[in-house]
Amino acid sequence: MISSVLIANRGEIAVRIIRGARECGVRTIAVYSEPDRLSPHVLEADEAYCIGPAASVDSYLRGETLIELAKTVGAEAIHPGYGFLAERADFAAAVEGAGLVFIGPTSDTIAAMGDKTEARRRMADSDVPIVPGLTDAVADADEAEKKATEIGYPVLLKASAGGGGKGMRVVEKPEDLTRAFEAASREALAAFGDGSVYIERYLARPRHIEIQVLGDAHGNTVHLGERECSIQRRHQKLVEEAPSSVLTEEERTAMGQAAVRAAEAVGYRGAGTIEFLYEDGEFFFLEMNTRIQVEHPVTEMVTGVDLVEWQLRIASGEKLTFTQSDVELTGHSIECRITSEDHLSGFLPSTGVITHLKIPTGPGVRWDGGVIEGSEVSLHYDPLLAKLVVHGADRKAAISRMSRALEELMVAGVETCAPLHRRVMEEQDFKAGALSIRYLDEHPELLEADAPEEMMIAATIAAALLEDEHRRGGPPRIKRPSSEPLNAWRRAVHPWGADRC
Ligand code: ADP
Repeated sequence: MISSVLIANRGEIAVRIIRGARECGVRTIAVYSEPDRLSPHVLEADEAYCIGPAASVDSYLRGETLIELAKTVGAEAIHPGYGFLAERADFAAAVEGAGLVFIGPTSDTIAAMGDKTEARRRMADSDVPIVPGLTDAVADADEAEKKATEIGYPVLLKASAGGGGKGMRVVEKPEDLTRAFEAASREALAAFGDGSVYIERYLARPRHIEIQVLGDAHGNTVHLGERECSIQRRHQKLVEEAPSSVLTEEERTAMGQAAVRAAEAVGYRGAGTIEFLYEDGEFFFLEMNTRIQVEHPVTEMVTGVDLVEWQLRIASGEKLTFTQSDVELTGHSIECRITSEDHLSGFLPSTGVITHLKIPTGPGVRWDGGVIEGSEVSLHYDPLLAKLVVHGADRKAAISRMSRALEELMVAGVETCAPLHRRVMEEQDFKAGALSIRYLDEHPELLEADAPEEMMIAATIAAALLEDEHRRGGPPRIKRPSSEPLNAWRRAVHPWGADRC
C-alpha cells in the first residue's frame, strides 16, 4: 500500500478521501486556498498546506504547484477527487512524470474518454450501444444543419470536450440550429479551450442510469451495479439511488457487461463510471467518467465495497480480491445532494456563513460533508455542501429514512435545496419510481414557494424554535411543521432574507 497521499481537492470529497486513506493507514496531506484554512478537510488531514488565494485557478487548479508540493513534503501519490484536475490527462501525465502515483487511470485513458466523440467511437467499436448521432465533431453550422436533419429533431448539440452541462444545447427545430450551434461552440471554447461540437439525438424521456466499474492493473474488471441519477436540474444530478427501480435482472446484467466491455476497451484502471441513458428497455452509452463520482456512496451502501479504499489499493498495484459473482446488492440506498442553491429562484447559488448546522444521524444514515458551523460558502466553488445518504432494507424503507433524516437536518445561514428533497421524497411519482430526466420539469409544483402567509407562519415558528433551542441548550420543544421547507428557517434567522418570503 502507498504510504502517503496528497489530496488535490477540497470540500466533502477531500474529507471522504482522507477518511478512506486513514482507514488504510495512509498519511494524508491536504491542500487549501486561503479562505478554506479552517475547512473540515484541513482540520482532518494529518498535514495541510496553503496553495493560494480563493480563485481555483490560483489554488486548486495549480497542477505544477501541487506536484512540487507533493515532492517537497514526501507524498507518494496524488488523489485528484472529482472536478478540478481529476480528468485532466496532462495533469495525470505530469504526476506520473514526476515519479508520483496518480490515483486514477492512465493519462491516455483520461484523454480518450475526455473527448466525447473519441469515446463514442471506441464504444461503438466495442459493441457498446451509443446514443444515436455522430462520432465526429461538425465543421460548421451548415454541416450541423445537414447532420441534424439526418439524425432527426429534436437534437442535442454537445461539446466534444464537454462536462458539467457546458456547451450543451437542445434544438427542437431547424431554424434554431445555427444560433444554438454558435452558442454551444462559443461556450465550449470558453470553458474547455476547444469549441468542437457534435450532435446526438435528444431522447424524449430517458432515465440516467450509470454503472460503477473497478479495474485493477492486472486485467481484472468488475462492475458494482447501477445508480439511477434521473432527478436532475439543468442536466446535473440532484438525487441518486441504487439499485434503479426500473431495471430487470437481465437488463442489469446486460448493462453491467456493456460497462465492463467499455472499461476493458480502454484498459481501465481504478474506479470509473459508465453513464447510460435508458429508455423503453434500451440503453445507450453517454460518457465515461474516469474518476470517483459524487454519488459513489450509494454503491458503497448496497455493495459494502469501499470505493476509495479500492482506488488506493489499485493504485498501489493490488489485485481485486473479488470477482463479478461475489458482488451482491443488498437493500436500497438514496443520496440527496445538499447544495447551497435556492430551488425557489431557479437554483441560484446562495452564499454566506453557515451559522447553524444540525447533521442527521441514526441507523442507516451517512453524512459526507465538507462544511461545519462557521464555514463560509462563496461563489468560488461548487455549491455541493454535503451528501445525505441513507440505506434501507428496500426502496420504501430508504425513502422513509431519507424523509426522517431530512427532517432532522437544519442548515442556517445559506439557502439549501434540502426542502426540495423533502418534497421529492413525498411526491407520488418518485415514490412509485416513475422517473425520467424530465422529472423536475414535469413537477413544477416542487419548485414553487408555499403561500407567502404560510411561509411567514413557518418562519415565525422556525425563529421560535431556534431561540428555544439556544436558550435551553437542548432540543427544541416545538415540533417543526413537516410541510415547511427549511428555507423559512434561514429567513427567520436572518431577517434580511425575509423580504424574499
Ligand atoms: P456532461 O458531461 O456535460 O454532464 P452528459 O453527456 O453527461 O453531459 O449529459 C448530462 C445529462 O444531460 C444527462 O444525464 C441527461 O440528463 C442529459 N442528456 C445528455 N445527452 C442526452 C440525450 N442525447 N438525450 C437526452 N438527454 C441527454
